[in-house]
Amino acid sequence: MKPIKVTVWNEFRHEKINEKVKKIYPDVMHAVIANSLNKAEGIKAVTATLDQPRHGLTDKVLENTDVLIWWGHMAHNEVADEVVEKVKTKVLEGMGLIVLHSGHFSKIFRSLLGTNCSLRWREDGQKERLWNIEPAHPITEGIGEYIELPHTEMYGERFDIPTPDKLIFISWFAGGEVFRSGCTWQRGHGKIFYFRPGHETFPIFHDPQIIKVITNAVRWAKPTIMKKDSCPNSPALEKI
Ligand code: ZN
Repeated sequence: MKPIKVTVWNEFRHEKINEKVKKIYPDVMHAVIANSLNKAEGIKAVTATLDQPRHGLTDKVLENTDVLIWWGHMAHNEVADEVVEKVKTKVLEGMGLIVLHSGHFSKIFRSLLGTNCSLRWREDGQKERLWNIEPAHPITEGIGEYIELPHTEMYGERFDIPTPDKLIFISWFAGGEVFRSGCTWQRGHGKIFYFRPGHETFPIFHDPQIIKVITNAVRWAKPTIMKKDSCPNSPALEKI
């Protein structure tokens, strides 16, 4: 079987300027995610970053991407609208998209969902418990009743998203908030998964359970078909 081709896109700014982030991700965040995915059977992951030409998302790269993973935070507005449109077209044609953490405010996520995608947040380093409420879903395969992250940033409701096709994880935070932390949608032929964990100043992508969810999500989001949009004038099949 052909491997699932994954492109891990990272804005790659915090790792350059923040000592704490550099220390947690000396090998940079996108490489940590891609390396973990490359250890999984049947997945071949490469990386792309904001400062590369066309943000590393050339037509050729997109042609060779079954599932795109997106991490962005401080530079959402630097992503060219033209590139966002190309990615959106690919998702509508069938490419999978996994949006992580602060990618909730990315142009591509907001454009595909059509809402503000705003939420409440607090950087307090407290505990999060993500409850697995769809244990039969492929994304939660091998995950127990919950995942616990000892230190994280809080994201709370209301999360301004359209009602998900499937709500996979609900988070509880030590401060009393809750959050829809794992959500799926389909747009066109493409599958979209939003997964909340991933704040850059905590070692979230070193957590095997978080990587397991992302790996499962890659397998779930791989294209069923890739189909270019058309709007044909259609002759009748029957005599009318
Ligand atoms: Zn964050």
